[in-house]
Amino acid sequence: MAAMAVVVLRGPRGHFRWRVPTCTRGVRGAASPAGGQQDFDLLVIGGGSGGLACAKEAAQLGKKVAVTDYVEPSPQGTRWGLGGTCVNVGCIPKKLMHQAALLGDMIRDAHHYGWEVAQPVQNKMAEAVQNHVKSLNWGHRVQLQDRKVKYFNIKASFVDKHTVCGVTKSGKETLLSADHIVIATGGRPKYPTHIEGASEYGITNVALECAGFLTGIGLDTTVMMRSIPLRGFDQQMSSLVTEHMESHGTRFLKGCVPSRIEKLPAGQLQVTWDDHASGKEGTGIFDTVLWAIGKDAQNLVSLEQGYSPSFPPFISWVHHSAGS
Ligand SMILES: Cc1cc2nc3c(=O)[nH]c(=O)nc-3n(C[C@H](O)[C@H](O)[C@H](O)COP(=O)(O)OP(=O)(O)OC[C@H]3O[C@@H](n4cnc5c(N)ncnc54)[C@H](O)[C@@H]3O)c2cc1C
Repeated sequence: MAAMAVVVLRGPRGHFRWRVPTCTRGVRGAASPAGGQQDFDLLVIGGGSGGLACAKEAAQLGKKVAVTDYVEPSPQGTRWGLGGTCVNVGCIPKKLMHQAALLGDMIRDAHHYGWEVAQPVQNKMAEAVQNHVKSLNWGHRVQLQDRKVKYFNIKASFVDKHTVCGVTKSGKETLLSADHIVIATGGRPKYPTHIEGASEYGITNVALECAGFLTGIGLDTTVMMRSIPLRGFDQQMSSLVTEHMESHGTRFLKGCVPSRIEKLPAGQLQVTWDDHASGKEGTGIFDTVLWAIGKDAQNLVSLEQGYSPSFPPFISWVHHSAGS
């Protein structure tokens, strides 16, 4: 059985760094002089749930709209398509994997209800989830096209209050200008930079939700917590959640803080941690280590350069969803 460690603690600042672009006027799509005609009425930076909703609404109202979206690869080199966190690595794949776990439970129960299910059952969940996500990526592109919203797969940063510089994966630069610019760049999960091996060998996501469906699809899953589960939430509800998970096989290591991760010759990961209750060091061997220690807002280069888009026409946009 594969083993999975989900680690929950608070760490220092995240891992992602923006390359400073060198955009100058004169490249393709060069912006018009300040005060002159802009390329677009509205430019949205970030093609996630918030950015896409905003762009589509504005286009519906007859505005000339563009969206820029660019996914900075994770330390493991993972990228994904249009649609942002929810579609690619958040709500949608999570719900599909929960559903896969629930269906697995039902298949196991089915014979008690008179169903004969052929054994062994094959699980091709990862491929099915990826295919569904790709269909959503494509659907979002089509929806933008249908509404005449121009899509640029570029990483945007501010040049001035009406102009952004976009850089493609291959380094090609484009200047885009707009009367109004919306920042809808979301956030990315953090890696602990002080723990040896954390970003080389770890991946990221959310803790208890992932641990729940990973246990549900039959993986031996351990959640390591520095303090208490779901800190900041109603602790009576939190206990109900963790007791339910424990009764289904999820293991919880409370009061433990990981100190290093080493890759073993066979490819598995050896995690070493400090157990604050016993004062001893613990170790365990896992196939995968997933960090769930919070998120950092995605930064736009201009902020680092000292150009602060903190006055109109900048608007930041947040994602609101119908819930989990
Ligand atoms: C595992 C998991 C499960 C979740 N489940 C739920 C749920 O059930 N219900 C719920 O409501 N929420 C859920 N969420 C949260 C939800 O996914 C996010 O709140 C939501 O996706 C945020 O949307 P956004 O548009 O603000 O940002 P994002 O979706 O993150 O989109 C921002 C986009 O902008 C891009 N970008 C960033 N900087 C630039 C730049 N400079 N130039 C161009 N592009 C840029 C990013 O790469 C990204 O594609 C979940 C999240 C996770 C991780």
